[in-house]
Amino acid sequence: MNALTIDVEDYFQVEAFASVIDPQNWKDYPSRVGLNTKKILDILDESQTKATFFCLGWVAERQPHLIKEIAARGHEIASHGYDHQPVYRKSPQTFRADVKETKQILEDLTGKPVSGYRAPTYSITKKTLWALEILAEEGYRYDSSIFPIKHDLYGIPDAPRFPFNINTFHVKTKLIEFPLTTLRILNLNIPIAGGGYFRLFPYTFIKKALRHINNKEKQPFIFYLHPWELDPNQPRINHISWRSRFRHYVNLDKTEGKFRKLLSDFRFSTVLEVLSIKF
Ligand SMILES: [Zn+2]
Repeated sequence: MNALTIDVEDYFQVEAFASVIDPQNWKDYPSRVGLNTKKILDILDESQTKATFFCLGWVAERQPHLIKEIAARGHEIASHGYDHQPVYRKSPQTFRADVKETKQILEDLTGKPVSGYRAPTYSITKKTLWALEILAEEGYRYDSSIFPIKHDLYGIPDAPRFPFNINTFHVKTKLIEFPLTTLRILNLNIPIAGGGYFRLFPYTFIKKALRHINNKEKQPFIFYLHPWELDPNQPRINHISWRSRFRHYVNLDKTEGKFRKLLSDFRFSTVLEVLSIKF
């Protein structure tokens, strides 16, 4: 059983556009997160699959019915923080306020405890490991923010590749980490299990890599996707770098087909279930 995760945020909130879109202006962009999340919910219903939805506090406050619907359809609600600012741009005080507030907003909407956290832009790096202690203190049980790769925006290349207790990794606190899944080739970790990498690589390669992790390494993988990645009709944002443009727009029209294949080829559930976290 593998973990399926959706980061519930809108297309204009991503780090790739942060240089041209100020969060203060988010309210001026037409929201598509509801429409796109419902598309995902319908696809998941068709394949009778449950997933974990890491929801942005900003979205939850403005579209409470969306969060309630995700929960009502049997999925796990977890936290993606409030304002989608990377952890390395926050102080420990503002980070604590952010994760506390988001947990409260989501729990008030669903009446269920929120156990999981995923940092915006996978921004738990060597410099922000302090954030993990704060998550545990604020009542979170697991984190899924560490990407064991080298990347210009995020990553801890030497972090373990599969779920581990965080107190075995430089931080003395009780929290389980589910790192984003990579394939190890030679001495390199290659990201394969979601987002832009899923849109970029041919499906046959991804399927083979994920099968290798399940069958040869005997480990679960964690797959992630954003609602805007199934939306080829989203408004285009101008004046961004070629790198950001490529990362955000590559193969948006192919995501849905690939995602449907993935759901029929592998078994998925929520992070809570895959990690066997009980209350
Ligand atoms: Zn995000």
